[in-house]
Order: sequence, then C-alpha cells, then structure tokens
Amino acid sequence: MELTVNQTIEWMTKFAAKIAANKQLLSDLDTPIGDGDHGFNMDRGMQAVVKKLSTTPPASESEALKEIAMTLISTVGGASGPLYGTAFLEMAKKSATTTDLGELLEAALNGIEKRGGAQPGDKTMVDVWAQLVPKVKEGQLTESRITAAVKSTAPMIAKKGRASYLGERSKGHVDPGSQSSGYLFTALLETEG
Ligand code: ADP
Ligand code: MG
Ligand code: MG
Repeated sequence: MELTVNQTIEWMTKFAAKIAANKQLLSDLDTPIGDGDHGFNMDRGMQAVVKKLSTTPPASESEALKEIAMTLISTVGGASGPLYGTAFLEMAKKSATTTDLGELLEAALNGIEKRGGAQPGDKTMVDVWAQLVPKVKEGQLTESRITAAVKSTAPMIAKKGRASYLGERSKGHVDPGSQSSGYLFTALLETEG
C-alpha cells in the first residue's frame, strides 16, 4: 500500500479518535507500572495533531508526516512523545524516496529503536512495532495479530522506561505504549483512503 496525504490525515483522525475514547484505559494501564499519564499524554498530542492538520493543510504526505512529528514532539511529553515523534519524523524523511507504507513503518521502527535503545522483549512499544511492521510489509496485518502483539507484552519484564524500575513486578501488565501503538495499527487497518 502507498501512503497518500489524504490517507495520512484519515489515519491520524482515526488514531486520535481511538486515543480519545481509550485515554482513561491507557492511563490506567500506566498506573501499576508507570505514572498513570500515558492516555492523557497521547490524547493531548493527538488532539493537537488533528487541529494542526486542519488549520495548516499539508500539501504532501511528507509535509503531513513532518507536521505530525513536530506536533507530537512538542505536545505529548514523557518518554512516548519523543519516540512517537521520532517515528513520524523518520517516516517523513523516508517519504522523500518512497511512499510504500511497509518501508515507511520500517524506518519508523528503526528510529524508535535507535532513539530509545529498546529491543524486542523489553516490554515497550517496540514489541508491537517489531511484530506488526513485517505483517504490514507482507499485507498480513489483521486485528487479531494486533491484539496478540499487544497482549504479548503482558508476561514480559520491562527493561526500558519507568516500568523497568519495577523489575519482576512489571510482569502481568500490558505495556501502555504497546496498547496505544496497537490503536495506531488498527487505525491504519481501518484507513481506506
Ligand atoms: P512516561 O513513562 O515518561 O510517563 P508515557 O507514559 O507517555 O511516558 O509512555 C510510556 C510508554 O513509553 C511505555 O509504555 C513504553 O511503551 C514507551 N517507552 C518508554 N521507554 C521506552 C524506550 N526506551 N523505548 C521504547 N519505548 C519506550
Ligand atoms: Mg507515563
Ligand atoms: Mg510521565
């Protein structure tokens, strides 16, 4: 699938709606293994993204991805803001040479890994991205695969971020950034363009 500017806007509008509907749930996931703000952080950021895309309509997917990145970096805060911001910034850079969604998302995943230093198995959003980006590339992204990827973080012991302070006690909880990333992939699945 090739990403167009209209699809990018539709994708972000759907993602923002999912974040808004689930902001309490996301912050509740962040309470036992973090500081309880993930849903509020993401909702603040995605509301700002939707506003930015409508007040400053991007002329290309590159421009859209750059606007999204800058807005997330300046409004989300916490650990997740710079990481989601990096993901969209890397997609923006990559979009100079390709609009293939799988390749854009692969660049985003590499950016998240580089920025945060997390590997698959560390109980971060990297787990969801690393499981689902190959599925996008193969045209095999499904809701059940998204759900499975998010759930796979529950038994993991956190090695990065606030949850890592809990060590073994981080076991048994879904990682909040993985849950929000799951919504990002579901929003993508629902984007028709
Ligand atoms: P904070 O922990 O600063 O309050 P958030 O609550 O908004 O930030 O985001 C927490 C999420 O960020 C975690 O659930 C995890 O998915 C993600 N995260 C934290 N540190 C890293 C990292 N080093 N690499 C990748 N993702 C990370
Ligand atoms: Mg938090
Ligand atoms: Mg915080």
